[in-house]
Amino acid sequence: MEQRIVRVLRHRVGKNERAAKPYDWYNAAVYALRDDVIDAWIASTTRTHEAKEKRVYYLSLEFLIGRLLRDAMSNLGITGEMAEALEKHGLDLAAIEELEPDAALGNGGLGRLAACFMESLASLDIPAYGYGIRYVNGMFRQRIDEGWQVELPETWLAHGNPWEFERPESAYPIGFGGEVVTEGETSTWLPNEVIEATAVDTPVVGWRGKRVNTLRLWTANALDPIRLDAFNAGDYFGAMENQLRADTLVRVLYPADSSPAGQELRLRQEFFFSSASIQDIVRRHAQYHGDVRTLPDRAAIQLNDTHPSVAVAELMRLLIDVHGLTFAEAWDVTKRTVSYTNHTLLPEALESWPQPLFERMLPRHMQLIYAINAVVLKEARAAGLSPEAIASISLIDEHGERRVRMANLAFAGSHSVNGVAALHTELMKETVFSDLHALYPERINNKTNGVTPRRWLQQCNPRLTGLIREAIGDDFLDDAEKLEALNSHADDAAFGERIDAVKRENKVDLAAHIDELMGIRLDPDALFDVQVKRIHEYKRQLLNLIETVALYDQIRSHPERDWVPRVKIFGGKAASSYHNAKLIIKLANDIARRVNTDPAVGDLLKVVFVPNYNVSLAERIIPAADLSEQISTAGMEASGTGNMKFALNGALTIGTLDGANIEILERVGADNMFIFGLTAEEVAAKRADGYDPRSVIEGSRELAQAVHSIASGVFSPDDPARFAGLMDGLMTSDWFMLAADFDAYAAAQRAVDRRWSDRAAWRSSAIRNIANVGWFSSDRTIAEYARDIWKVM
Ligand SMILES: *Cc1c(COP(=O)(O)O)cnc(C)c1O
Repeated sequence: MEQRIVRVLRHRVGKNERAAKPYDWYNAAVYALRDDVIDAWIASTTRTHEAKEKRVYYLSLEFLIGRLLRDAMSNLGITGEMAEALEKHGLDLAAIEELEPDAALGNGGLGRLAACFMESLASLDIPAYGYGIRYVNGMFRQRIDEGWQVELPETWLAHGNPWEFERPESAYPIGFGGEVVTEGETSTWLPNEVIEATAVDTPVVGWRGKRVNTLRLWTANALDPIRLDAFNAGDYFGAMENQLRADTLVRVLYPADSSPAGQELRLRQEFFFSSASIQDIVRRHAQYHGDVRTLPDRAAIQLNDTHPSVAVAELMRLLIDVHGLTFAEAWDVTKRTVSYTNHTLLPEALESWPQPLFERMLPRHMQLIYAINAVVLKEARAAGLSPEAIASISLIDEHGERRVRMANLAFAGSHSVNGVAALHTELMKETVFSDLHALYPERINNKTNGVTPRRWLQQCNPRLTGLIREAIGDDFLDDAEKLEALNSHADDAAFGERIDAVKRENKVDLAAHIDELMGIRLDPDALFDVQVKRIHEYKRQLLNLIETVALYDQIRSHPERDWVPRVKIFGGKAASSYHNAKLIIKLANDIARRVNTDPAVGDLLKVVFVPNYNVSLAERIIPAADLSEQISTAGMEASGTGNMKFALNGALTIGTLDGANIEILERVGADNMFIFGLTAEEVAAKRADGYDPRSVIEGSRELAQAVHSIASGVFSPDDPARFAGLMDGLMTSDWFMLAADFDAYAAAQRAVDRRWSDRAAWRSSAIRNIANVGWFSSDRTIAEYARDIWKVM
């Protein structure tokens, strides 16, 4: 390995050892390792090809993959070899790993799920492609300026990217606009704008190098990047306009995943990557298997949320207009090939597009959607559904301005529609999809999310992994459910102390990182209480902050009590157009400024907002957490995956009966979690009854005092009215039921304090968390998709 590194340093990077900068060594390390990856990659592809295996295609607008070096080394089992090789040149592998930029091609849980799934697909030896967009700037980088979020472009490609392979031979024309010409039975779409999509491939290495799959991200180019006539006439900008329009498509990920996008660019992005991916899939099938009618035998296409829904119409167009199938044949092939995963029930997040925009941008697809709709509505009438049910099933929303409903299109065009946790799936049947479910009762099924234990245990927490191996052997490395063997050590005092020591070392590391980053000193013996995730009102960071203020008041009023020292750690990005979420970030920082400098509380309470939460930061924070905050309003978090990562690393959860928390509770047990608050049913009932938050707030002394102090500017003396509106929203509507859950939450926090003070009890609970969440491995999730939906296992 050492010789290889020196060789590639010279011949690829173009430097000798003396001239090489740390980043050159990083590149050399990746190139050296890459040879092994490529060999396994080619072997995997050849094997799939020769056996004519069915492939899985995972279409996702987001892949939050994070760094790849550690993942690839670990899965190939060469981390030690690499560390030794670098050490011979006086280099520390951990420091080299830090040089890799985070590939932040996603927003939050949905994108991270896609990344965990890609890793598990390779680990389970399932031939698969991930398809997405190669965003040049990805998700924005977050800076905190005077407590406010500032969005900066993420420049993850600034130094090039040694992991990717451009495939200029895999390029497809993507049309927009124009018209449809119909002659007899055949229709042809003549777009008035064409952009070329070119594949850029990244290898995804499975556990023990079993298989290497492909993440294929599309980049965009103009067919004529420069118009020389315009250029020569002095119109330099006009001459480049086409390339600029292409570049715009692959610049940034539109970061709002839960507010109406309403923007043409987003629809263009969705069609761009869906069309390129579908063309690639159909081309591969036609080339190797001939008849496109056998597509469902060789390909399973999974739509990750509705962003790629237009793929249903694009597949229909290719089958009918290019391959000559009848509409009925094409519809049958499409439904048997495609399946769809729903990720949210928030009505504002259910994508729909103004029909005139859709028609102008994709006239042929609009025709096909009307034709599909006719079939679906005919089936609905034949099933005897009511006019209201038929209207809600329609792919076209006729209320007010006509809109195309992407979730209905995805549902209609799929043989399987899955939710991502048991509660979420039941709510899908009862709420947004109740009428579609009545029409197609076999279609909805549940696939509870999971996370890859390689990244989220082995790689991010080597100390804990080592300790578990000593205790129960190596079986759990290949099957996370084998962690159950740890249950027999849950009450072993000596083992508990070692678990504690590992946690403390991880906390020391995190504290050092935070000190370096922000100049805040944290006490590693305090309870590290963590809420890191996108900032959204339904996730209720505000509930946590208000309770923090209440605790602060209590500590100041009763300094004589035996308080448990706490560090409150927050992190997460707010969508750039989401005003309240940004204000919540400011509030966290304003509270931190006041609390952290108040000598009356000293080390009893510290508040930290860590900027730019991303995968790499998650990998540092989660192993160091004692308490995991999963406190969404019940019924609103589809699953959550952060909850799984924390429990796997021995944090105890304080949480509501929402998403996968419920299933974690079933496995970990109520004695080892802090569950509080309204159920989803109770939330719905309260909303229906006319809930009055003001009276609830006035009825709770601690809550009233905290809300009033925030509203009156105690934490924002420079602008006393800054949070008045936010607090007024709580008083008057409180859609997310903070007030209703506050007392239960505060009581649960005091129960946390009591358990923490009983060290043996806390350690035992931590061990039982680790032992019983192996089921939340994405290997289990993917095995279920493979068996029930894709039929590849
Ligand atoms: C796991 C993960 C998420 C999802 O967290 P939730 O708590 O489930 O919302 C978001 N961002 C990053 C970087 C993650 O690793």
